[in-house]
Amino acid sequence: MPKDARRVQGTSVPRRKVRLCRFFAVSGLCKWGNSCYFAHGEAELVLGSDAASQQQIISECSSRAWEDAQGGCCSFPQALAVRLALRFEAQPQNLLPTMEKTGLPVSGDGARAAVKVLLRLCHPDKCGHPEAKKAVQILGPLLAKCNS
Ligand SMILES: [Zn+2]
Repeated sequence: MPKDARRVQGTSVPRRKVRLCRFFAVSGLCKWGNSCYFAHGEAELVLGSDAASQQQIISECSSRAWEDAQGGCCSFPQALAVRLALRFEAQPQNLLPTMEKTGLPVSGDGARAAVKVLLRLCHPDKCGHPEAKKAVQILGPLLAKCNS
């Protein structure tokens, strides 16, 4: 059994980057660098890090997406992908942890697969949402980041 198995099974395992790193806060240095579990500064903190505010963001986006879809410009999943992209414009990487709760059909694993699904939904050739182009502009750089 791997050494960490017991810790992983527990329910108290924190999600990544939802709290500030203590080492980094004190000294500005942390031996874990980019792979640190905690946020190095406010900018890295995950938006809507607790379940309640994630849920809030998703329900906000969902209700706007329903209105969009009823207006007939595109389907609900398309509108939802657009609304989520716009909502997370400042920190699009923070959209990814909420993906599994949105009900959008993510096929495959990992951030890259999730971004690809979003991009496919938002693609202006298929999605008639007025903000679709903007959503793609937000999500495009995120896909490039997932490559590295
Ligand atoms: Zn750290």
